[in-house]
Amino acid sequence: MLLEDRTCLVTGGSKGIGAGIARELGAHGADVVVNYRSSEDSAHAVKEEIDEGPGSAVVAQADVANFDEVQTMYDAVREELGPIDVLVNNAGITVDRTFDEMTREDWDRVISVNLGGVYNCTKVCYDDIRDAEEGRLINISSVVGQQGNYGQANYATTKSGLFGFSRTIALEMARHGSTSNCVAPGFVETDMLADVPERVREKILKNIPLRRFAEVEDVVGIVRFLASKESSYMTGQVLAVNGGMEW
Ligand code: NAP
Repeated sequence: MLLEDRTCLVTGGSKGIGAGIARELGAHGADVVVNYRSSEDSAHAVKEEIDEGPGSAVVAQADVANFDEVQTMYDAVREELGPIDVLVNNAGITVDRTFDEMTREDWDRVISVNLGGVYNCTKVCYDDIRDAEEGRLINISSVVGQQGNYGQANYATTKSGLFGFSRTIALEMARHGSTSNCVAPGFVETDMLADVPERVREKILKNIPLRRFAEVEDVVGIVRFLASKESSYMTGQVLAVNGGMEW
């Protein structure tokens, strides 16, 4: 098993891309921590599915934007499973408005989850990942961080921010043999994309050379590869999984 003996924490593992990543890591033998904020039933469904296969899972509630909740979650998980080898910073939200309509509150909400959450989760897991035999930090960014996107100044800022963050942590962890990379998916069929109006979806589709939106399954394989020891010599990179869009 590719990920046997790996303990992996997936933030926002209850739904969408995070749930797919959690299932994929579990299917390759990992012990998976399925973090969620409010979707308890979905998180338990992901856990049950993982437990039926070669891996195992625990669920862990915490709002990633809240440092104290993240610390409490980490302490409980550490006690039960030992150190975290792989952290997948996946939890993310959108609050879309054109910039002329965007309030400071809209801005702060997205920053606090998409970047504040990355700080909080990486901070508590940092020593574990650095000291692991080939620890892994994997940050889920977006093509929107590369291209920008109408009505998403707050979101695009957070997703671009992950490039600099991932690369810097890569440099700081390199001498310990642990790595840090970014995955930048294109537009993926999840609840997040379901919020996008049909006319905007059609416009986006015209710019995707493969002429379809991604399924969650299109994205999870690259995360499994990064989590494994097969990716030992890859660090500080942004891996695009976007149907061929240019940026
Ligand atoms: P989604 O279907 O809306 O799922 C979001 C997940 O994040 C849920 O499990 C949710 O848990 C969790 N979450 C949200 N806020 C949280 C918080 N404060 N603390 C803990 N968990 C939180 O979204 P998705 O499409 O799978 O997106 C996942 C990641 O991929 C995001 O970072 C997103 O930016 C990125 N991405 C998405 C797309 C796309 O087109 N869908 C494209 C590129 C990148 P609860 O329901 O329990 O709150």
